[in-house]
Amino acid sequence: MFLDIVKNVLLNLFFILIPVFILALWLEERNAPEKIRKYILTLASAIIIILCMTFPINSNIDTEYIYDLHQVPLWLGSLYKGPIASLFLCMVTIGYRSFFGGKEFMLTAITSVAIMIAGIALSKKFLALSSKQRILLAFLLSAVSEMLMVVWIQSFHHTLPASSAFWLYLPIQPISMIFTCYLKEILYKNSVLRKRIIRAEKMEVVSHLAASISHEVRNPLTTARGFIQLLEQSHLSQEKRKQYIRIAIEELDRAQAIITDYLTFAKPAPESVENLNVKTEVERVIDIVRPLANMNSVEVQTSLIPCNVKGERQKLQQCLLNIIKNAIEAMPNGGTLEVYISIEKDQVLIRISDTGVGMTKEQIERLGEPYFTTKGRRGTGLGMMVVYRIIESMGGTIQIASEVNKGTQVSLYLPLTQSLHTPSVEQKHDIFAAS
Ligand code: ADP
Ligand code: MG
Repeated sequence: MFLDIVKNVLLNLFFILIPVFILALWLEERNAPEKIRKYILTLASAIIIILCMTFPINSNIDTEYIYDLHQVPLWLGSLYKGPIASLFLCMVTIGYRSFFGGKEFMLTAITSVAIMIAGIALSKKFLALSSKQRILLAFLLSAVSEMLMVVWIQSFHHTLPASSAFWLYLPIQPISMIFTCYLKEILYKNSVLRKRIIRAEKMEVVSHLAASISHEVRNPLTTARGFIQLLEQSHLSQEKRKQYIRIAIEELDRAQAIITDYLTFAKPAPESVENLNVKTEVERVIDIVRPLANMNSVEVQTSLIPCNVKGERQKLQQCLLNIIKNAIEAMPNGGTLEVYISIEKDQVLIRISDTGVGMTKEQIERLGEPYFTTKGRRGTGLGMMVVYRIIESMGGTIQIASEVNKGTQVSLYLPLTQSLHTPSVEQKHDIFAAS
């Protein structure tokens, strides 16, 4: 009998941990928007409540009460997902229990409503607490609700159930609560950390580029300054003056374009998934890294065709930027960087090749491992990790081919999205220009 109880407790815990682990991780991997995530997880909590109630802890033991862990998802759903989820889960609990009827029903109905009210009242404050405080509060709430249940049974029936299942069940629920809540918090902390790493890597790229950018901006400024100085001389013909002014303006425009490119990239933008034209994005990234390429005397060759993929603009740009930056850094004495786009079946292939130092088999295998770098203090070893994560989140794959002292070829395969009816940004511009 004791074994049966343990078995059923584990089964209940298994139901509870599925959404905490697998579903939450899967949703994060898919980069699901916050709202959809909330709906799915709330719905999952409802299903778990039903499953827990269907397979109670004392299922094959004859007692007057049914014990199960449905309060754990009910509490956690209410606290983490807010008032509407709380109301929904409470209704599911009461609705499903009403099928069983009997003594059990009133008890469940009242505890569920109490949990719902507490959830609605506390949810906001709960989310503002620190991780440790949240775990503690969840534990206390579940312990208190259980104690109230005991008081309720005692006062109505003047006696407590004598079965061992009851006494075993009492500590199990708060312990399950603390366990589940703890895992939830750990996973949440990890996901926050991962997001922070991606952001930090972006800042790293931005600051690395800063050196080459300032160099690239200084050149046109110096040229413009020179021509403006020439204009000071009074003996110049009208013709010459005009020419000098034009050159100075052109140079200033160039400096401005470089700064604009750099700033738009560095600026944080709201995350939104949209249809992206790969050709436009590749061109933008190449514009951004051109100063770096020039500094390393790297020639850039492109063969691009327009095609669409779904994703976040900033992320795709960052991913391309990290790969292209690696390619340029692999050619300190100059070389050729080639970017090539083609469509293969339902996939977009973006191939970035360099004629640089290349990698050994071991290096290729370790690529994407955080902090793996051969660049000493100059490298972060986070660039390729970010690339892998972004491409995976877009549902794509990466292939690497490399030979030492010959070069490297990074191939990105991304799912193609057809967009025959929605004009791309460029087309919109064309329509604009034509009207
Ligand atoms: P970092 O560039 O900061 O070193 P990355 O994650 O971007 O970190 O790259 C990790 C390592 O992979 C690099 O240090 C380098 O040894 C290797 N690597 C990446 N791309 C290339 C490339 N195109 N050619 C040669 N080696 C490369
Ligand atoms: Mg890098």
